[in-house]
Amino acid sequence: MVKVLKPKGQVKKENAKSKPAKAPEKAKVPVRFDLREESLRTLSQFYLGEMDLKMRVRQMTVASGKEPEEWVATLEILKDNIIKTEHPDLKLKMYQGMADLLAKVGQKEDLFIIQQIIARYNLKSFKDIGFERVEIEVSKDACPVCRKNAGKKFRIDEAMETMPIPCRECSTEVDAVKGYCKCRYFAVF
Ligand SMILES: [Zn+2]
Ligand SMILES: [Zn+2]
Repeated sequence: MVKVLKPKGQVKKENAKSKPAKAPEKAKVPVRFDLREESLRTLSQFYLGEMDLKMRVRQMTVASGKEPEEWVATLEILKDNIIKTEHPDLKLKMYQGMADLLAKVGQKEDLFIIQQIIARYNLKSFKDIGFERVEIEVSKDACPVCRKNAGKKFRIDEAMETMPIPCRECSTEVDAVKGYCKCRYFAVF
């Protein structure tokens, strides 16, 4: 299960305050997103919308006695749909939607877990159709850590065990997180 914590990026409401209680970190200005908009954008990829979100927020409020944030409810909707759908490509797309949303919220730990699920899922798909080896492809804007992986080949069983990607030490900053590794597996023919 994905453990969801408080967002690190500031949410809109807090902008209204004249002065923050604590001085913000000097080194980095957090990226701000309208998380409601991002949640709805994520859901719209799967033909889900505002009504689904409202319903889920209400259900969760009744169940826990506390109104969840909309992005938290969005993740729950996606998790349910991942379980329900039989279609592997759609499952994968939903995991990717979760990962992108977590990056916007700044939830690095949860993002990493979802990325691991995606990596494992890809490996299994290659194995299921008869491939034995994979190669890592690195994105163009990859950090130095990720770049070291470029072109590395693994037996699928070995990759399943050692999980070379997502890279733990990745320093690529995407949205509100540092360490959104975009390395991918490709099957070796
Ligand atoms: Zn990487
Ligand atoms: Zn990286």
